[in-house]
Amino acid sequence: MSSSNNSHVTIREAILENVPKEVEISRIEYEGPRIAIYTKRPEILVEQSYIIPDIVRLIRKRIVVRSDPSVRLSESETERLIYENVSSDAEITSVNFDPTIGEVIIEAKKPGIVIGKNGDMLREIVKSTRWRPRVLRSPPLTSYIIQSIRHYIHSESKERERILHSTGERVFRSQVVENDAVRLITLGGFQEVGRSAILIQSKESNVLLDCGLNPGSKKPIDTYPRLDLSVFRLEDLDAVVITHAHLDHCGFLPFLFKYGYDGPVYCTEPTASLTTLLQLDYLDVAQKQGIIPAYDQKDVRSTTLHTITQNYGVVTDVSPDIRLTFSNAGHILGSAILHLHVGEGFYNIVYTGDYKYGPTSLLEPAVTNFPRVETLITESTYGSFNDVMPPRKEVEKWFVSVLNETLNKRGKVLIPVPAVGRAQEILMVIDKYMREKSLMEAPVFIDGMISEATAIHTAYPEYLAASIRDQIFHQGINPFESDYFVNIKHSSERQNVINEEACVVLATSGMLEGGPAIEYFKSFAPNESNSIVFVSYQIDGTLGRRVRNGINEVSIIENGKVNVVKQNMQVHAIEGFSGHSDRKQIFRYIRNLSSKPDRIIICHGERSKCFDMAKMLKRSRYETHVPSNQEMLHLKG
Ligand code: ZN
Repeated sequence: MSSSNNSHVTIREAILENVPKEVEISRIEYEGPRIAIYTKRPEILVEQSYIIPDIVRLIRKRIVVRSDPSVRLSESETERLIYENVSSDAEITSVNFDPTIGEVIIEAKKPGIVIGKNGDMLREIVKSTRWRPRVLRSPPLTSYIIQSIRHYIHSESKERERILHSTGERVFRSQVVENDAVRLITLGGFQEVGRSAILIQSKESNVLLDCGLNPGSKKPIDTYPRLDLSVFRLEDLDAVVITHAHLDHCGFLPFLFKYGYDGPVYCTEPTASLTTLLQLDYLDVAQKQGIIPAYDQKDVRSTTLHTITQNYGVVTDVSPDIRLTFSNAGHILGSAILHLHVGEGFYNIVYTGDYKYGPTSLLEPAVTNFPRVETLITESTYGSFNDVMPPRKEVEKWFVSVLNETLNKRGKVLIPVPAVGRAQEILMVIDKYMREKSLMEAPVFIDGMISEATAIHTAYPEYLAASIRDQIFHQGINPFESDYFVNIKHSSERQNVINEEACVVLATSGMLEGGPAIEYFKSFAPNESNSIVFVSYQIDGTLGRRVRNGINEVSIIENGKVNVVKQNMQVHAIEGFSGHSDRKQIFRYIRNLSSKPDRIIICHGERSKCFDMAKMLKRSRYETHVPSNQEMLHLKG
């Protein structure tokens, strides 16, 4: 931390004045958007737990306590001590270390025992090892992605340290110019669905909200956000914030690192894991289709190292004049609505990303509570006059009857699903109705990366709806495991599915743009006793959209050859399972916001949906804008 800067001196002084001498502070360091106090006696600050909150109130910055690396026990010694001291009843399944921040991550089947009465055991671990324990419930399914992210961050801890430090230098730089303007630049995802990207600019800072790509488009000019605009300068970018892990919001992110971005990416922890999974899968699918993607695995790894995760409700400085808070969006696991506070009370923006203001099996509805909102940026995927979804119960009944009809004829049902969100939602519905016997029992084959995405869901139960959390925490039930489900682990097993009669197949991709869903499509399509059921939004230009619209012949390019497939399956599109709000829910959401916005900006919807939405909002006397891409809006000043 440099001493040339006034605000830094105050922070340092406030800390040194308020922390007792015996704590032996060895350094005060930036750690991304937080201030890390390194101490040789971390146990004192754990014991006297009021000291740090007092300082936080004083300086209004986030502080974390880290043990000085010189006093930490070796990793192997620490692991041994943990196993020795914690009762084996805790059933510890793994012990991992994050040396950058001095954390030991302990996964156990009974985390309560590791924590001990009133946190006794945790204090004991800090005292004897000087690592800060973070205790997690062992997920019932192992996620390969979460494990490899942990290992990668461990192996690159020096580089991670550098990134966090330089991020902090930037976040806590002293503000050069006075706040007198806030601008919004539309880089992608306006009057369209896909490639979401919004640049927020104050005189001092630049923050990019989402960095997606359009999976339905073939030309680069329509596929990627317009980062070529002169107002967008990579070297001026303070932060990138990702709302959720769908490719149309995060698919282009690694590209920034390929071109030298060295700053932070903020998102929730589930979003970080899911984003990595989706980007790697995107590269895999592209390779199989012979497409050269705009970035590679190295850039995905770089993204991981630059990612700083944040829970819902935590206020974080992302630049000298912008504070960010995440709230639950109810769309997919970890999805967030962003609240940006610019300047000290100068301006407030809420960006919904994709959101669901209604009940689903997986998640709680989107949060409406914000201290202040001047500009609301809302999606409008289902924002048209006639976009009203039937009640959830009816949707489920409809879905069950569609499946029964095909299964009774000994036909096969193909459900193309995005791996994240809709897949888990549909699996839970199928399991429920098959157990109740109102849906004919049949094997449910799961192909693509759905099972990995499901494993990630089980790793973050605190992000799931209260009812599921309760099942996992108190009843010991994992709702994602069912006797009906069969995971297809290798492409050679697909033939078994194809030979099967009366079965259900859930496969990626959700819009039939590559992935195993295509393999099943080719074999199921000619037979009219089979059916295809769409349960998610089909972007214009995708094969899924064309099939949904009723084409009866499909050309699929394989190894340079065109394969013409007759499409005779029954086609059903059941949109009530969507993770998006319908028109009524969007309205109700806006009405229920705790602070009434002065202005509403509409994005993430096809042109006609955006304008329909605007018309309806104007009737309710909201100032409404429907910008196209490449526009600059002066929000204030
Ligand atoms: Zn989405």
